[in-house]
Amino acid sequence: MTLTPAQQLAATDRAHIIHPYLPGSAEERVIMTEGKGCRLTDAEGRSYLDATGGLWLAQIGHGREEVADVAHAQMKQLEYFTSFWEFSNEPAIKLSQRLASLAPENLNHVYFTSGGSEGNEAAIKMARYYHHRRGEGSRTWILARNKAYHGIGYGGGSATGFPVYHEGFAPMMPHVSHLTPPWPYRTELYNGEDPTDFLIAELEARIADIGASNIAAMIGEPIMGVGGMLVPPADYWPRVREVLDRHGILLIFDEVVTAYGRVGEWFAAQHFGIQPDIIVTAKGITSGYIPLGALMVSDDVAEVLLRDHGFPMGYTYNGHPVAAAVALANLDIIEREGLLARAVTMGEHLHNQLEAELGHLPIVGEIRSVGMMLAVELVADRETRTPLPLNPARMPHDVIRQETGVIVRDSAHSLVLSPPLIMTEQEAKEAATAIRSV
Ligand code: PLP
Repeated sequence: MTLTPAQQLAATDRAHIIHPYLPGSAEERVIMTEGKGCRLTDAEGRSYLDATGGLWLAQIGHGREEVADVAHAQMKQLEYFTSFWEFSNEPAIKLSQRLASLAPENLNHVYFTSGGSEGNEAAIKMARYYHHRRGEGSRTWILARNKAYHGIGYGGGSATGFPVYHEGFAPMMPHVSHLTPPWPYRTELYNGEDPTDFLIAELEARIADIGASNIAAMIGEPIMGVGGMLVPPADYWPRVREVLDRHGILLIFDEVVTAYGRVGEWFAAQHFGIQPDIIVTAKGITSGYIPLGALMVSDDVAEVLLRDHGFPMGYTYNGHPVAAAVALANLDIIEREGLLARAVTMGEHLHNQLEAELGHLPIVGEIRSVGMMLAVELVADRETRTPLPLNPARMPHDVIRQETGVIVRDSAHSLVLSPPLIMTEQEAKEAATAIRSV
């Protein structure tokens, strides 16, 4: 039997690639070959509507020639340089200035990485090192939350609050303590109390247990993505910040998903009116055109890190000039096309479309969103809010993709959407109708 070119590719993929998480679906793994706007095309020529924006990152959409041209020109001029500890380069310098101008007030210093996992490793190490340099080396503990996702490193991976990501990888990093997540829909988590009151009391009690003088930082996604687009009450982050300040504990915002327009601001910290000490970003900084991450670091933390002999942590791709040039082109497009405002209006529009198509269905418990982060919570019973039992061999997002060509993701018992910020009203309708039909 002769294989089609697409089947040959699939066979080679199966023979040689270790894919994460889903060996089971290897038989029908879709091989993508092209992208334009919100559309992707696979090796069989089938077209898809990308309602997850790649992996929550394709802010400007796929296939922008302007970005490719910038990468091409930068590669021809200077594709790499020597180490970032001895040398620097113009795109990285310009990008650092641009990011400092967009970030909340006092976050004027940038540490570049190649992605979100590295970013969280760097942030956790920075927090410990900051206290070490200030003579408080006992501050080693990291506070995190259940249902958090902070990447695949041992620091961020340990802060991740899903046991499934720890199983078989033990021992995880010690000195990490997980708190209850802010998830107002799940009222049962808070013993009938106001969720923020409950969570703040828990935070205070945990700090008392561990001892404030042993805690370096709390890390949290402002809106939990992998956990299912969990939006905290408006007073949660301001009150957490107040408690941490009182105890000299740093706040690390993991904005790998939420930054660069996804929630209608450059950073979700601005949406919540918060000044974190460190913001970890990646993904949307280049809309996925090339790997890059950037930590925004406060003046106070940077001053301590850079004292005397400097911050002893660097790696090969810090400040990569091609990635930095691509990021600048991406930020230009976000700004020029008004994509922050568009995230708000299209997010509302898509939310309304989902509400109209799905809101009345007995298996839909809640539709929640901030900007272009949306989730549809699936329940067996709307009264008891019992999660909908799911068949791992036939997950709703797989069926939606197979039957309608619309790509959404599942997160716990939710369907999540995070489309390119350029999505049109027609595409929003297509996504909502496709989910409804399945
Ligand atoms: N932090 C959050 C909140 C994420 O959602 C992710 C990835 O989805 C990461 C960190 C890890 O980033 P990366 O996959 O770029 O290493």
